[in-house]
Amino acid sequence: MRLSKAHIKTLREIPGEAEIPSHIWLLRAGMIRKTVSGVYGFMTFGWRTVRKIEQIVREEMDLADAQEILMSALQPAELWHESGRWQVYGPELWRVKDRHDRAFCLGPTAEEIFTDIVRNEVDSYRQLPLNLYQIQTKYRDEARPRFGLMRSREFIMKDAYSFDRDEAGLDVSYLKMREAYNRVFTRCGLSFRPVIADSGAMGGKDTEEFTALCDYGENDIVYCDACDFAANTESAAGVDAAPVSEELLPVTEVHTPGTKTIEAVADFVGLPKEKTLKALLFAVYREPAADGETGGTDKTGRPISGKPDGGLDHAAGDVGGAVEYVLKEYVAVFIRGDRELNMTKLMNALGVQEHLIEFADEAQMGLVTGAVGGFTGPIGLHDVKILTDSELPGLKNLCAGANKIDYHLTNVNYGRDYEADIVTDLKLVKAGDPCPVCGKPLAFARGIEVGQIFKLGTKYSASMGATYKDENQEEHLIVMGCYGIGVTRTMAAVVEQNHDDKGIIWPVPIAPYHVIVTLVKPDDETQRRVAENLYAQFQAAGVEVILDDRDERPGVKFNDADIFGIPIRITVGKKAADGLVEYKLRRGTEVLELDVAEATARAIKLVQTER
Ligand code: ATP
Ligand code: MG
Repeated sequence: MRLSKAHIKTLREIPGEAEIPSHIWLLRAGMIRKTVSGVYGFMTFGWRTVRKIEQIVREEMDLADAQEILMSALQPAELWHESGRWQVYGPELWRVKDRHDRAFCLGPTAEEIFTDIVRNEVDSYRQLPLNLYQIQTKYRDEARPRFGLMRSREFIMKDAYSFDRDEAGLDVSYLKMREAYNRVFTRCGLSFRPVIADSGAMGGKDTEEFTALCDYGENDIVYCDACDFAANTESAAGVDAAPVSEELLPVTEVHTPGTKTIEAVADFVGLPKEKTLKALLFAVYREPAADGETGGTDKTGRPISGKPDGGLDHAAGDVGGAVEYVLKEYVAVFIRGDRELNMTKLMNALGVQEHLIEFADEAQMGLVTGAVGGFTGPIGLHDVKILTDSELPGLKNLCAGANKIDYHLTNVNYGRDYEADIVTDLKLVKAGDPCPVCGKPLAFARGIEVGQIFKLGTKYSASMGATYKDENQEEHLIVMGCYGIGVTRTMAAVVEQNHDDKGIIWPVPIAPYHVIVTLVKPDDETQRRVAENLYAQFQAAGVEVILDDRDERPGVKFNDADIFGIPIRITVGKKAADGLVEYKLRRGTEVLELDVAEATARAIKLVQTER
């Protein structure tokens, strides 16, 4: 490609909206352009890199015996009603109607569509196992689209679905995908870890997320250097503190004026934070009944006008009208004072989704349950679901709120003084906590999920009726797995890990081009001849090459080459007359003066070994 003829525009300034390196550099290099919030287009270089990542994914999927198809992004609501997800998916699902008022969604994922294909076309055990995949644009109306391609509302995903006769078959399919994913991300040049992930409130079995390690990642992971354990902190099992054997002392009320935080109480009563009980209060909502129920009342008889903020505009039963969520219950959660609550574990324990739970309005909740903001404790609460962390029954003589302004109770004990509706692990695991496998201290890292593999089991085959007949004509449910890779998010993650203060540093396999030949003085005949020659030779050798033959100052050309992140730069300048050019790798600092043939040979060899 001749840069003089290309439609490529780099930006000198950092675009105001961009906060993280991948977003900044993809915009500055002219690889992507924003249409509206969370929606991006891919320009010449950007699209080349997307297609290269897609190709790597495609090759590895094909090697793992998966077959590529392409289904529509437009999915009829009926299929989502069958699986039950039309109601529960929440406001991220992008719902649209056609001119006949028929409801559709723009697919955020495609379990329903693929299950539908298979239930119609597979009936014998002979047709299984089967793995179908597509590389397709997905839509999610994310609450907070940000960081460019990292969390967008339209993005390219590879999604694969495996169909097996039984669990053992699924295990094999899952492992094959796991290996394929390791190869895909390695080939893309990512530093990543497969980590144990959360299978969600909706049930499900084994699942792992492939997490690219980077500072701006939205996922926290913990891992153990002593054993192989690595997990998303969302799902990492907490290890309970050892039970305490202490005599139970009588509950005592203490006047603790103004001590609304754990720190303040612990200080005031002279106890370590581990001897206190932290309370967190939530309101849990439900979708309205199908008959168009709106509102509802709380127990004081006051009308509830839906969840106060967030997610009010999505349609649950139909497209169009706003939904008013109905208050279902109040929830009080108790954990040891020095711990943090893991929201994912709480949502799983309650079986609710994110958009149906939020921190309670303490005053409103207090009227119903007796809780007192800042002084809430487990004794004397009523009309509320109580959850406690699994280590609390083993701890003794804790200090908790008295449900009375400016008062706490000491020597509060589980079993004797209060009980919970649910006792389960609710702790957020932190760096330094013991590894749940080997007990050594865990380390912490940030990352971004670039792919996920998931054993679905029979969730979709059961709800949608996907079955096969075995050798004896007996009917069984097909056992499924699903496997996603964020193609465009992977592109951003690679930039996040491969950039410097001058621009992107593409790994060879997904670089938009391999070599840039920078022609310093396009009107110098010798320089032009040498550069044109190099350009032709690289093309003949199958090396993807850019000729920067623009009528620009050399400084501009060098800056642009660095921003683009092209792995090899060959500069043709004054010394071209002596048959010499400059050879520089984007990832290094060394500038070599080589004769033209040597520079050409080096570049070709590097591309052939690394691509
Ligand atoms: P997240 O937790 O980050 O929202 P997810 O777990 O909901 O992601 P999946 O349903 O597992 O995402 O989708 C498969 C892959 O698609 C993810 O691993 C990720 O790489 C990509 N992906 C998901 N949401 C987005 C998005 N909003 N923008 C870009 N890529 C995305
Ligand atoms: Mg995921």
